[in-house]
Amino acid sequence: MRKNLYYVISELTDTGLVKAGISLRSGGVSIPPYDTFNLATHVGDDSKAVYQNQTIFSRQTDIKSIKYCKQIHSDTVLDAATITPSDWCQENRNIEQWTGDALISSRLGETLGIFTADCIPIFVLDTKTPAIGIAHAGWRGTLDLIATKTLLQMERIFHTLKKNCLIHLGASIKKCCYQVSSDLQLKFEAKFGHSVQYGDSLCLQTANKIQLVDFGVHPKAITISPYCTACNTDKFFSYRAESGQTGRMLSFIQLTRNQ
Ligand SMILES: [Zn+2]
Repeated sequence: MRKNLYYVISELTDTGLVKAGISLRSGGVSIPPYDTFNLATHVGDDSKAVYQNQTIFSRQTDIKSIKYCKQIHSDTVLDAATITPSDWCQENRNIEQWTGDALISSRLGETLGIFTADCIPIFVLDTKTPAIGIAHAGWRGTLDLIATKTLLQMERIFHTLKKNCLIHLGASIKKCCYQVSSDLQLKFEAKFGHSVQYGDSLCLQTANKIQLVDFGVHPKAITISPYCTACNTDKFFSYRAESGQTGRMLSFIQLTRNQ
């Protein structure tokens, strides 16, 4: 039996409209500290190993091409129709790099991806249009409201209605492990209120949920992964728990069916 390489986001896949998941850290060929299923080429891992891992991923998921961007902790949302797929599985192919931290699409069969290791991958599914989005939210993206900006762009381009959206906050670092400076805590409290603070830690998931609910998304439409990446380094990569030298998981969403 082949090993499952990714965690299925059943809250979204149960609609029958999408394939969505987050890759796990085992089942690949990378050596420490990228062991073993690192899917990102920008973290210092041997690119041959990464392309091999990407090939393993593509075989199991039947996803042959993925659109993703060079992530810079910004609040930039890209319409996937304006970019070409990146160099997935193909070594030494020179292609343009798109810079941003969220992607949106309404095209059937198109797959969007975001790399993380502690930051929150935010999955969006507009079940009526249908349309999809994915965003990368660390503390900067959260403060810059990238989750609501992703929805705003979906409204603008696909006429998405908030009431039709399901949102999932994927495996990421949680309040049990996310100690931050008091300066940063104050910034978060000023923007999202007292409930984002736990001792000397922050709850990024709560901050993102608050911004989405304030924007008009129904609280019941937002689900949060039970996993803290830093508490579960057997399953996930964690930038913080592994002192900044580690691999990246790929969060992906593909529109597989129209309404
Ligand atoms: Zn934890």
